Amino acid sequence: MTFATKIRCPRCAREYPLGKIVNTCRCGSPLTVDYDAAKIKNALDASALKRREATLWRYREFLPLNDDRNRVSLGEGFTPLLDTPRLAKEFSLRRLWIKDEAQNPTGSFKDRGIALAVSLAKELGVAKVAIPSAGNAGASLAAYAARAGIEAHVFMPKDAPRANVAEAEQYGARLTLVDGLISDCGRLIAERKDAEGWFDVSTLKEPYRLEGKKTMGLEIAEQLEWQLPDVIVYPTGGGTGLIGMWKGFAELEAVGWIGARRPRMVSVQAEHCAPIVRAFNEGKEAAEPWKDARTIASGLRVPQAVADFLILRVLRESGGTALAVTDEEMLADIRLAARLEGLFLCPEGAACVAALRRLTKAGWIGPSDTALIFNTASGLKYLDAVGPRM
Ligand SMILES: *Cc1c(COP(=O)(O)O)cnc(C)c1O
Ligand SMILES: [Zn+2]
Repeated sequence: MTFATKIRCPRCAREYPLGKIVNTCRCGSPLTVDYDAAKIKNALDASALKRREATLWRYREFLPLNDDRNRVSLGEGFTPLLDTPRLAKEFSLRRLWIKDEAQNPTGSFKDRGIALAVSLAKELGVAKVAIPSAGNAGASLAAYAARAGIEAHVFMPKDAPRANVAEAEQYGARLTLVDGLISDCGRLIAERKDAEGWFDVSTLKEPYRLEGKKTMGLEIAEQLEWQLPDVIVYPTGGGTGLIGMWKGFAELEAVGWIGARRPRMVSVQAEHCAPIVRAFNEGKEAAEPWKDARTIASGLRVPQAVADFLILRVLRESGGTALAVTDEEMLADIRLAARLEGLFLCPEGAACVAALRRLTKAGWIGPSDTALIFNTASGLKYLDAVGPRM
């Protein structure tokens, strides 16, 4: 059973019942899941979590799956929160943690959202799923669909990282390589999904992936013994993790496990694909699509986010900010983190390190602040961009 009560539109407040697959609201906005906080509070004590399995399913009361038998899992979530003192010293920070999402089953944090979306697809009787992906999400969907015995249709740019293409192929997905970006892949799916009977699991075009990504917020809180850091830096493409963590913090406050204090939330993007940064700096409520998007950080090569207004809302509500870094900075900081901490970051993770350097230099983050950044995937998935030239 689930403590979820309904699905709701954060823009127009229209409500939808659980128990039926939904995509976006009729007004076009992403949809989110609501819970009965009082019931969760009665059913679960925070101290009971310690005895639970080390996966995101330890938070099952905060997830929308009704029957545990429909769980499709490869052991995702509850990744280590690594203290990184040498890197902290580099930036004169009191304390710095890296949430190491490389340690998810397919090597990226996409597994969190995809595990939930595929579990719900199984529970609600879906036979075919489709996804537009810059790389990691397509690989993850291919794996979880295989695990569930569901047919997966993956659309990726033809220059997506080779690892992602290989993964999707090996997991047996029907793979289409597109001469374009993730937004072009999304358009192809939108045109065909009704005729093909596909459940479209595009970022924030269904409410379930957000619930899986939200568990990063729950984990950070639990791993830091319910004391959130001062600053969280998040490499932002579609923004699922950022919006998800913010939702997770609100749910933790509703059950009384944390107070009202929140981290300042920071979006980092790539110099040549920074629609959220531009909109944030211009004081806009929505972001214009970015032209000629390019970066080695494939997860950040997202020229337009459907949830742009939600991302911008979180940044402003939290007193946060947004900034872009260059591919060269990412490459240099992959090397730095590898040498200082033994971590082979993905370019998106290294973008967080580069953002820290800029924000500490500018005094936006001070020496008494604690900060948390994400390594959202394994550097091993990016050997085309980072590996030795052969
Ligand atoms: C998808 C992805 C991102 C961006 O995540 P969003 O939640 O869509 O903003 C960052 N890093 C990596 C490695 C990714 O695969
Ligand atoms: Zn709506």
